[in-house]
Amino acid sequence: MDKITRWIKVNTEFRGIHCWPECPYPDVAFLRNPHRHTFKVEVKVLIDHDDRDIEFFQFQHRLDQVISDWYFKGTQPGHKNIEPVDLGRKSCEQIAEDIFQVLRAYGYNRRMVICVSEDGEVGAELEFEPDGTKFEPNGGLDNEGIL
Ligand SMILES: [Zn+2]
Repeated sequence: MDKITRWIKVNTEFRGIHCWPECPYPDVAFLRNPHRHTFKVEVKVLIDHDDRDIEFFQFQHRLDQVISDWYFKGTQPGHKNIEPVDLGRKSCEQIAEDIFQVLRAYGYNRRMVICVSEDGEVGAELEFEPDGTKFEPNGGLDNEGIL
């Protein structure tokens, strides 16, 4: 029997400002100063079967909520945010890890690949393999599917 590895994929985005004050490279010295990006986020989650193991829109809503809670203190869900969040000197890799840790804390404890890019041009992709705890499909959700 053929082996199939199944993933779901959801995308979202948010606006932020960051910088890299210690940047040693003269040709990209602009990175030392705060600059704005639309950070594009793609999350792939390993699923067990082919019939809505994780529901796309519910998971996308959760991802938007994670970003809103973590970076915007719950004030600006998902891409509805107008003002960019100040990310300090955080890199795309660090943002991906933040998102993974918060999703994990909210009950999504599965293998994931999280890609965070700057304006869809350049970015980082991290693969996470959590150990231990069994995944609970709606862990942390209340009856309305909201955190
Ligand atoms: Zn940047």
